[in-house]
Amino acid sequence: MSFESLGLSAPVLQAVADKGYTTPTLIQEKAIPIVLMGRDVLGCAQTGTGKTASFVLPMIDILSEGRAKARMPRSLILEPTRELAAQVAENFEIYGKNHKLNMALLIGGVSFPDQERALERGADVLIATPGRLLDHFERGGILLNDVKILVIDEADRMLDMGFIPDVERIVATLPPLRQTLFFSATMPPEIKRLADRFLSNPKEVTVSAPASASKNIVQGLVVVQEDDKREALRALIKEQDIKNAIVFCNRKKDVAILQGSLKKHGFNAGALHGDMSQPARMETLDKFKQGEIQILVASDVAARGLDIVAMSHVFNFDVPFSPEDYVHRIGRTGRAGLTGHSFTLASPDEGPLVEAIEKLIGTTIPRVEVPGMELLAFEPSDGRRRGRGRGRAGSSSSSRGRSSSRPPKEARAEQAAGPESAARPAPEARPEREARPERAARPPREPRAERPHREPRPEREARPEREARPEREARPEREARPPRERRPERSDRPRQDRRDRDDTPAPMGLGDHVPAFLARSAR
Ligand code: AMP
Repeated sequence: MSFESLGLSAPVLQAVADKGYTTPTLIQEKAIPIVLMGRDVLGCAQTGTGKTASFVLPMIDILSEGRAKARMPRSLILEPTRELAAQVAENFEIYGKNHKLNMALLIGGVSFPDQERALERGADVLIATPGRLLDHFERGGILLNDVKILVIDEADRMLDMGFIPDVERIVATLPPLRQTLFFSATMPPEIKRLADRFLSNPKEVTVSAPASASKNIVQGLVVVQEDDKREALRALIKEQDIKNAIVFCNRKKDVAILQGSLKKHGFNAGALHGDMSQPARMETLDKFKQGEIQILVASDVAARGLDIVAMSHVFNFDVPFSPEDYVHRIGRTGRAGLTGHSFTLASPDEGPLVEAIEKLIGTTIPRVEVPGMELLAFEPSDGRRRGRGRGRAGSSSSSRGRSSSRPPKEARAEQAAGPESAARPAPEARPEREARPERAARPPREPRAERPHREPRPEREARPEREARPEREARPEREARPPRERRPERSDRPRQDRRDRDDTPAPMGLGDHVPAFLARSAR
């Protein structure tokens, strides 16, 4: 199918052609004609599928008629994170370059006056995170009575982040007669219920099954002692032909430490995590996108949903706590039909986490070796080391006290090691790294060159950010919301080191009105 057959106008088609797209993706093919008809859409699709253009392109055409009044936007796109909102805004500029549509971007961490000026000019398209939008609304800076098109993007992430009460408040202020486009990577019952309330006779559009890794990603797993991970990472980076890479850490503090270490070893590395100020986040991201930073060390929260064109590699410095996060992380590469590579560094006690991932993605991640480093096996669940011994003399998996990836008791580490590594006999102990210089990292086999572009399947989006909330008086933004409730199916997720992870929750059930005495942590 061609873009021309979707019913888009000539100026939009021109912008699409200038961008270099020749064929619509599946979600674009399915959703664009429906949006142009004025119907509500319930879309089950993840980032990476071309979802953004599936609503932005038809919106540009619908909005091309008419003009926005001051402080009364004509359409509203809600995004869970600042980065995603900024990304959608970029898309609007690219696809809308042949139109004269005004856009306003309301995200936290950016000054109010600039945003107020954009609203004052009259916004045909308003792209916002829920907290900042409500802040403007409560200041009387915006009226939503004129919104004719509402997009709720990444609804399941909104739920994870505790934004749903905000979204409900926002939707309550919108005119009931409107077109609503509702997208979510997954459709748990809470999201479906919400969709039923917000949408009117929607057309459902699903692009593929949830939670699977793209076939365009060549995956690899390295099992090394915790203390050897940095060295293993450096060896992999040197050995691989890296254009640009994200290195994911589970903890904010490790992001800074690892970035410092990489820089010390001469790598061009930047850092991105939820504790950084918004301008610093944007600047780093910009440098990474421009190629000024080659390796971005990041926490999940900061890297969520990022669309970096042609990213060649993703490294997991830690095995993510939730298997869905793995799919999300590696999904930063192998996008839009390109081949990507992902390497995960696991310590011997992270077997059960790997096992959970392999169960989710339905395949064993191929084990790879790093030059001069011992290939280890996962520990059995009773804590006894199995087979291979230690990575290097003097290293110890527990020396950094990182026990947060401890498996659930019932997990079987032997299974997690996977058939490949379990079958391989242990070599003799190799005390010196230099003893085996010839050993090259063995990346998994490349996919066949002729493999056709497959639509990346929806991934279970990783848990989004829950940044620490500022004091109510300050109210610079209300990005992070307490999670609604813990998801029962994730109750076995390790919770140690919680304060250091990028998802510190706030008190529950009080919305934004948390009395100061409750905001203080209990002794
Ligand atoms: P999204 O799911 O909207 O984050 O898009 C994922 C990536 O696919 C982005 O880099 C888009 O620029 C790219 N993309 C979107 N539509 C197309 C298309 N029809 N052909 C090629 N690339 C596309």
